[in-house]
This record gives sequence, structure tokens and C-alpha cells, in this order.
Amino acid sequence: MLAPSDNQYISFGPEFGQRVLVFVDTEEEFDWTQPKSRDSTSVKSVKSLRKVHSLMRGFDIKPAYMVDYPVATTPESVEVLRALSENDGATIGTQLHPWVNPPFLERVGGPNSFPGNLPREVERAKIKALTEAIDENFGAAPIVYRAGRYGVGPNTEALLDELGYRMDVSVRPYFDYSDEGGPSFRNIRPQLYWTGPERRLLELPLTSTFTGGLRVIGERAFELATRVPRLNGLLSRTSLLGRVALTPEGIPLDEAIQAIELLVEAGTQIFSISFHSPSVEPGHTPYVRDARDLADFYAWWDGVLTTLTRAGVKPASVEEVVAAAHAQRDGKPATLAEHAASV
Ligand SMILES: [Zn+2]
Repeated sequence: MLAPSDNQYISFGPEFGQRVLVFVDTEEEFDWTQPKSRDSTSVKSVKSLRKVHSLMRGFDIKPAYMVDYPVATTPESVEVLRALSENDGATIGTQLHPWVNPPFLERVGGPNSFPGNLPREVERAKIKALTEAIDENFGAAPIVYRAGRYGVGPNTEALLDELGYRMDVSVRPYFDYSDEGGPSFRNIRPQLYWTGPERRLLELPLTSTFTGGLRVIGERAFELATRVPRLNGLLSRTSLLGRVALTPEGIPLDEAIQAIELLVEAGTQIFSISFHSPSVEPGHTPYVRDARDLADFYAWWDGVLTTLTRAGVKPASVEEVVAAAHAQRDGKPATLAEHAASV
């Protein structure tokens, strides 16, 4: 994935303020330690999303549920999410897990689990099948896309543009999956930018940052540290350099709060937070194994959303960010609706 040039990045005026969006990778339960399989299609944990959804609604956040094929085509999960979207304003977006998404033309596993590695026509057919299933079962065509395993490839942006998408959210800055055949996002900043062949598709990267005394040279120090394993251990043990992605999965609450405070101070305009839906029930993901982990998961959300609210960061939806970016490009102010914070 090519890093954008400086003039592709979007900086809003002060009227935009500081905003937060939550994306939920809404997907089937599967064993994270095992190779990918076409047979893991159970989506029973989706019903447990109602609880975290209402926690977020308490902070006026309308999450974007990024649904993959099993979720978009199983009546029980469709019913739960349709209600959250129709009654409560949640966004339904697209998440492509190619190994459980027809048409099944490729060999399962390895580099093929990053959908951007598939031949253009196979990637296109899978995105199209999923887009149509969402349109049919949720009553509206999705406008926001996330590649499973952050697996965007050389054709992804053009395909999204062609299929009517307005925003991609697959980029995870400072993370590098090239060891496993996936993309590298080392040279991409966590900031909204225009992309795609017509420069009319938006990329909203996940929020990630560096903390610790070496953060000012974070990316260079991190690169050096990954090449010198002993240095990596030393830097994180001495808290000189930490890499923090905004997610309750594997990032302790105190580290997330420290990162948020630094980012608020630095004037970050959009915070993008993510988690995987099976984490709302113990035993599905490596992050939530038991009841205690689940309690920590809820405490994380409460702590992070309280920190953001107190710092004046307000919620925004995908649709509002798309509208603001286009307004700014048309020379109009990128003002968003005022959200009444309840904390
Ligand atoms: Zn996923």
C-alpha cells in the first residue's frame, strides 16, 4: 500500500473540533490459534453486542458495525444489528473475511487470508457479494469498508470506489504485516486522507501512536528496535518507547489513557477505536478468556470514553465525517452536529 503524499491528508478547521468513532469488527467466532477455515461461521456472540452498544450510547456514540459475510447472512445476527441500526442510528459497514465469503475460488489460508492479495476479479467478486448481501438484508448499501486482517492490496481502493464506497478503514499506522504476506503501514500517519484513483475515497486509519520518552522519534526508533530485538525489549522495559493502538484488545486502560492525553494535546482531530465483536463473550478471542477479562473490557470502554468526553472529544458518525470532508473540499465549513455528551 502506497503511503499518501502530504497533500492527500485532510486537516479540518477549528469548527470540526476533536471527534471519536468506534468500529466493531463484527464477525463469526473462530479459534485464533488455528489456521483459517471455511467451517467457522457461528455468529452467536453478536447478540451480546447489545450491552456494549448501550454503554456506548450512554456516551452518545453510534458505533459502526463492520459486518462480514456470516454476520450479514445469518437471520439471528441480522435481526440484532438491524435493530441497532434502525432504532439507534448505528452504521452498518462491510468487513471482508475472504475465507468465509463466497465465491470460493481461492485456496484457504496463508497470504490468501489478506483479501488484497487475491486476484483482482476474485477480490472484486467477494466484495460485491458481501455488499449485495448487506444491501439486501439491512436495507441500505454500505459506504464504509474494512479488509479482514487489514489486508488491503493494490486493487482494493479502485474496487471500493467502483462499488460505491466512500470510506476505507483498513489502515493500521505503524503496523507491518509483511512477514505474513500482508501489507505494511509503516509510513502512513493516523490522519484522514483522500485516496483512490479519483481521490474521492476517504481513508480513516485506526488511531495508533507512540508513548514514552522516545516518542518524538517514535517511528524511526521503532524501526530500529524491530531490527535489533534486544533493543526492542530494552526500550519497552524502560518505558522509553511504547506503540499503542486504540483498542481494548491487548492495550491496558492506563496505556490507552496516556496515549489519548498525548493525542488530545497534539490536536488529533479524529480518534478511531476498534475491537472484534466475539470479545464481548468470554472464550472466543485471546483478549477476553474469562469473566474477569470481560469486566476489564467494560472498564476499558468506560475509562476511555470518560477520558475522551472530559477532554472535549465529541462523537461523530462515518456519514458525518464523509460529509465534512466533502464540504471542506467544496470550500464550505466542515461543521458537525453538536452531540450532547451525557457525562
Ligand atoms: Zn476480522
